[in-house]
Amino acid sequence: MIPFSPPRIDDRTVKAVEEALRSGWITTGPRTKEFERRLAAYCGVDRVIALNSWTNACELVLRWFGIGPGDEVIVPAYTYCATANIVMHVGAKPVLVDVLDDFTMDPEAVRRAIGPRTKCIMPVDIGGLPARVPEIMRIAEECSPLFTPAVNLRVAGTNPQMRLGRALVMSDAAHSFGARIADKAVGAQADITGFSFHAVKNLTTAEGGALAFNLPAPFDHEELYRHFNTMSLHGQSKDALAKTQPGAWRYDVAFPGWKCNMTDLQAAIGLVELDRYDNDTLVRRRAICERYDRAFSADSRFIIPTFRDAKRTSSFHLYMLRVREASEAQRDAIITAIAQREVSVNVHFIPLPLLSFYKGQGYQMSDHPNTFAQYSREISLPVYYDLTDAQVDEVVAAVKAAVDEVMGPA
Ligand SMILES: *Cc1c(COP(=O)(O)O)cnc(C)c1O
Repeated sequence: MIPFSPPRIDDRTVKAVEEALRSGWITTGPRTKEFERRLAAYCGVDRVIALNSWTNACELVLRWFGIGPGDEVIVPAYTYCATANIVMHVGAKPVLVDVLDDFTMDPEAVRRAIGPRTKCIMPVDIGGLPARVPEIMRIAEECSPLFTPAVNLRVAGTNPQMRLGRALVMSDAAHSFGARIADKAVGAQADITGFSFHAVKNLTTAEGGALAFNLPAPFDHEELYRHFNTMSLHGQSKDALAKTQPGAWRYDVAFPGWKCNMTDLQAAIGLVELDRYDNDTLVRRRAICERYDRAFSADSRFIIPTFRDAKRTSSFHLYMLRVREASEAQRDAIITAIAQREVSVNVHFIPLPLLSFYKGQGYQMSDHPNTFAQYSREISLPVYYDLTDAQVDEVVAAVKAAVDEVMGPA
């Protein structure tokens, strides 16, 4: 059986975690701080905070920006549920928009969806291909006259909505660490970029996430970092490491914060992953995707995914193949036929309006026809570091045989 996306765990990973375990410091500490510095340098931003997941990290951002009941957040219909779930958690309303043929959010649909209640826009870099974030930033600025900040909001002495004066652009880069837009790493485009280091992602810490801060002046990234640190630790004025200083036991709680810090065990894995990311992980992932491209591009029954264009380069997270003429039922049958050939594939993602909860909230699939048109014929193929060329060829053979079986031969 060829699995879908096992993590890359080798002696180096195990040794790094063992060292962290034996160091006497296992929660947030020197390894997490080092990981944050290295992530910031990689992304070309002043500050990155590492936390326990994309979900909790990005939910903190919505809370920091003061988003709540009565507010709207624009989210693509085509994404993982986490993107919309965090909007529900803070009591705001996800406003869904359709995607383009490359699976990313349609900037013009965003423009149409922006209104006086819009507080945040969340493009999603699906499969690793960056969404059109610079265009979406421009649209957020152009629509700033519509923006209606909450005037009573005070966060750490400032009102972030009054300061920004427009909708916040928070990019869901759960798939796209290491992708690039116009020669800059993802992280340096949106106001705030959220990464996921979940076990299946390109760069993992088992579970984990991070925020890259890239807000315009007069936001102070050092101050933001400190504020998010406090938010992630119960609003406590000192973290565990600071309290270990002799006599430094006393602390205060300024507000009832949350608890979503990263541990040094996770950061130890992340440091190893980051060290070999560009020269090894991405090189292998790109080679796998290019091998799939060569196998599928000559066969007109398939649509191959976009990995680069004039401005953008993907992080090669997912190989999102489409079977051109397949209905949803035929796609499902193809997946069953692939599974019979001992290959694990997946579908990324079931659109939000097809999930019971969101359907129950009144969202309709027919409002987002291009999302459905892409989803209904999509099959994600295995991409992971240890996948060999011979296994890639096995996957290709299984997919082609399954499509022959369900759709008829080429
Ligand atoms: C994985 C994923 C998330 C959530 O990441 P966690 O770190 O598991 O919270 C969010 N958005 C997308 C598109 C994802 O694929």
